[in-house]
Amino acid sequence: MIRRSFLKTSAFGIGSTFVFKSHSAILENEIIQNGSTPLVISSYNGIRATEKAMEMINKGADALDAVIAGVNIVEEDPEDMTVGFGGLPNEDGVVELDSCCMHGPTHNAGAVGALQNIKTPSKVARLVMERSDHVLLVGKGALRFAKAHGFKETNLLTERAREQWLKWKETRDPDDNWFPPEIDNKGKAYKGVNYTYGTITCLGIDLKGNISGVTTTSGLSYKIAGRIGDSPIIGAGLYVDNEVGACGSTGRGEENLKNLTSFLIVELMRNGMSPKDACMEGIKRVISHAKTKELIKENGRPAFNIRYYALNKQGQFGSASIYGPAEFSVNDGNENKFHPSDYLYEWED
Ligand code: ASP
Repeated sequence: MIRRSFLKTSAFGIGSTFVFKSHSAILENEIIQNGSTPLVISSYNGIRATEKAMEMINKGADALDAVIAGVNIVEEDPEDMTVGFGGLPNEDGVVELDSCCMHGPTHNAGAVGALQNIKTPSKVARLVMERSDHVLLVGKGALRFAKAHGFKETNLLTERAREQWLKWKETRDPDDNWFPPEIDNKGKAYKGVNYTYGTITCLGIDLKGNISGVTTTSGLSYKIAGRIGDSPIIGAGLYVDNEVGACGSTGRGEENLKNLTSFLIVELMRNGMSPKDACMEGIKRVISHAKTKELIKENGRPAFNIRYYALNKQGQFGSASIYGPAEFSVNDGNENKFHPSDYLYEWED
């Protein structure tokens, strides 16, 4: 349903239910509760992506073209150290990128893992989908495929990322067992080193009501070379069902890989759960399966964070994370802004 028809057909009388709220607050409440399309949502770092994608959708673009163009802005931005060019490297100082995309109307998907030297892995993922009979290409094969299609190689390691990597090497625990190091209460730093997860996922519904999504990342910083996270795995970092909705994820990929939670969340929406509740149910499932001492702290809470973002066919949306507060990016065709995510626990001091 497009915004204009939604406004016309909305069953709620504006003004009668929320008499003390402003007109725009009432409208926003209705949109959140009832849903509205077109719609684009993304992770916190995706506010420019949602803006760009909605601009294209409003001009008639397919949701897949729109969300990929949106995340390309962040992939090409050297300032975002979690995605594409400028992303933090693996333990050898090499940037390896993961991405996947899924096109609702054709239920087709493409992905690349551990791709080096190409700024926009989401574009390569799309080519894998459209120009090959495969879904996932990794490493050297993915790079060869990208170059065959005219992508130019670039050194993705910026000076800023190289300095962080060196700092990480200098402060590395000699007993490092390749498990995640202790992180600060926002999940960001380790002895002053920018040790981080971080990814962009972007989901959209276009004017035809078709749904598509994309997820792209440099993955866990200082990972073992060749490590592939959840972001290029269909059902984990992203899942789309054109009749139901879509879900994307950011955060600790290993736990997402063990649960295929994006698929789960779409299935929960198929059974009638709202995107917001389905995301929280996914969070609870992940936690219920986290059993080792590396994953569960002494106080019984998870030692990691993970976050889901979902929308359904009606244009309702939601997000949930283990720790918060947190926000995510939403463009409902009216406004492009951050919305609060649901979360299970407050960050601990
Ligand atoms: N999920 C990504 C990965 O594990 C990283 C992240 O989103 O923070 O590679």
